[in-house]
Amino acid sequence: MMNEPASQGNEHFSIQHERFRNTLNASDLDEFSNLPDDNRRIHFVYKRLYANLGDPGAGDDEGNSKNGDKALEMKKTGTVYFQKSDYRNAVNWYSLALLNCPQTEDWLIQLSIIYANRSACLYRLEDYDRSISDIQRALDNGYPKNLRYKVYDRRARCFLATKQLKSALESFKATIEALDDSGLSLDERRKRQLDMQVMLTMMAKDKNLKNEPKAGDEPTAGLYGRPNDAYPAASDAVSIEYAEAEGRHAVASRDVPVGSVLLVERAYASVLLREYCHTHCTDCFAKLVAPVPCPGCNRVAFCGDRCKRVALKSYHAIECPLLPTLFATGVSITCLIALRIITQQPLRYFVDLQPKLNHMQTPCGKREPEKYVNLYNLVTHRRLRSVQDILHRTHVAAFYLYCLKKTNYFAGCGGDIELLTDDQLFIGSLLLHHLLLIQFNAFEVSELRLRRAADNENQETVFIGGSVYPTLALLNHSCDPCVVRYHRGTSVIVQNIRDLCVGEAITENYGPMFMFQPKKDRQETLKTRYWFECNCIACCQDWPTWEQMKVNTSLRIRCKNCKNAITVTTESMEFIAHCRVCLKTTNLMATLKVLQDTEKKYKAAKGLMDKHNYKKALKEFMALLSLLHKHLVPPFRDYHLCQQAIRECILSFGNKS
Ligand SMILES: [Zn+2]
Ligand SMILES: [Zn+2]
Ligand SMILES: [Zn+2]
Ligand SMILES: [Zn+2]
Repeated sequence: MMNEPASQGNEHFSIQHERFRNTLNASDLDEFSNLPDDNRRIHFVYKRLYANLGDPGAGDDEGNSKNGDKALEMKKTGTVYFQKSDYRNAVNWYSLALLNCPQTEDWLIQLSIIYANRSACLYRLEDYDRSISDIQRALDNGYPKNLRYKVYDRRARCFLATKQLKSALESFKATIEALDDSGLSLDERRKRQLDMQVMLTMMAKDKNLKNEPKAGDEPTAGLYGRPNDAYPAASDAVSIEYAEAEGRHAVASRDVPVGSVLLVERAYASVLLREYCHTHCTDCFAKLVAPVPCPGCNRVAFCGDRCKRVALKSYHAIECPLLPTLFATGVSITCLIALRIITQQPLRYFVDLQPKLNHMQTPCGKREPEKYVNLYNLVTHRRLRSVQDILHRTHVAAFYLYCLKKTNYFAGCGGDIELLTDDQLFIGSLLLHHLLLIQFNAFEVSELRLRRAADNENQETVFIGGSVYPTLALLNHSCDPCVVRYHRGTSVIVQNIRDLCVGEAITENYGPMFMFQPKKDRQETLKTRYWFECNCIACCQDWPTWEQMKVNTSLRIRCKNCKNAITVTTESMEFIAHCRVCLKTTNLMATLKVLQDTEKKYKAAKGLMDKHNYKKALKEFMALLSLLHKHLVPPFRDYHLCQQAIRECILSFGNKS
């Protein structure tokens, strides 16, 4: 789960809210607290914001808009690097130039030239696919006719290098034709044409002249078992149930071996952190190599034309002109996700769903066929909230509504800024509802970053954005979670880090883990952030932390008969242990014999992990964990050390940078 950063860049809005609250007297607050529904709450705040404060819009923050002169400067720097054969830096500078180059009629030729220049760098870097894409973009933007033979020739060579021979042939032919427009001297043209002819004759003799299929993407992580009928993102080994105390939660519907993929879920909505907007794709969070800019702003960049198309057809079409205002206001990423849930769908979509939305209903185990309805039904803790809390979030929602009215979200019906139509009130109420539920249901999206220091290297997990996953959000918390989650792009993958028995709760972790934090701290964190009392096994039995386990030398042997723990001290000379629960005896010799080489096994697996051979290491660790689990009862140090290693191996399969 995501920790909603209360102070992160939120100041500007907090000041506005403070000011707004000062305009309300006691009877206003009383009136607000007695309003029967969200529509009226939105109306209450919206009306007063404009009556009392005038335009609440924040000023433009600088450096937002495209700037042709800046783009040309950057292009120049790119060319300097190109001439020094520093193609990586050249790509970076040309990319910056593209981001800043206006996409108005009079700048398109410049844009096309920068694309062509970048394609030359990518060609030198042997990044042929990206070079081909850039050449296409150069041509699409009207690359000058007299220079076209250059990019056709480059494209032909890219196709040749990637064994797309048919396309290469066509490109070579296009090069010959384009030479007529080149303005080169007749001699020069003849020479080049001859070159091409030789190339073509050679290729014509090649019997294998056909388009070879290109290698596909890496296969996605395979779900364990079959997809769940009710919750297709989850495995059918997961069952979503409902109980008064726990709300909706997940349990294993059969035994599941450690390391199984229990959930693969696409983000319902995700927002990239602002500081990564030039290094990661806004839509899929992929690390950018040769970014494609938004035609309207220099705020976002895409990994390719597909992501750009998706974003510009939905949320970014609405958000593009709003970004300066949104950023200047400094609202947190969770708030932006609440807005994104609206902007990524047209107004019509929500209006049609309206009859199905009722937050007064308590959702039980049933799932709705429409994804949004499931999101809508996630927990909001409305009844536990103070008036101040609701007022603050209503203010954010009203502000977003004000922003949306200035775009064409309401299809030209934004109309008078002071008046709200029924549709607008409805969207405002949804924004408020999203803000309430997002507090408890947003997840951090992260990537692993390798850090090389002088003598060692280690990995750190970096938080790059936030997402909502309606199915994952149904998993409850445990301070000793049985799953680990990681991301591929904005999708989340969940794998269990220990064997699961049928009926066992499938829990994940919202932040505090028993190994690293004492019970009191964990309970406090969970109470303040997520508003619940944790009664996981680690809390109920007050398990020792990592540090405390270090000094504890007793063993928790699993009773052969009833599976409960028999505690024996390592100094004990007894070879027979008596179980206090079932009163039967267990032979310790056998257990100790099995356990004597676990240390060696752990070291061997750790060695594999240190060499980044995660797949093999994972297999070894999982076998070791099963062995430990068979003979010992958690909590004990070796078991959790092994589990920690499993977690680390699995995390290595996620986003990397
Ligand atoms: Zn992308
Ligand atoms: Zn834009
Ligand atoms: Zn707990
Ligand atoms: Zn027993």
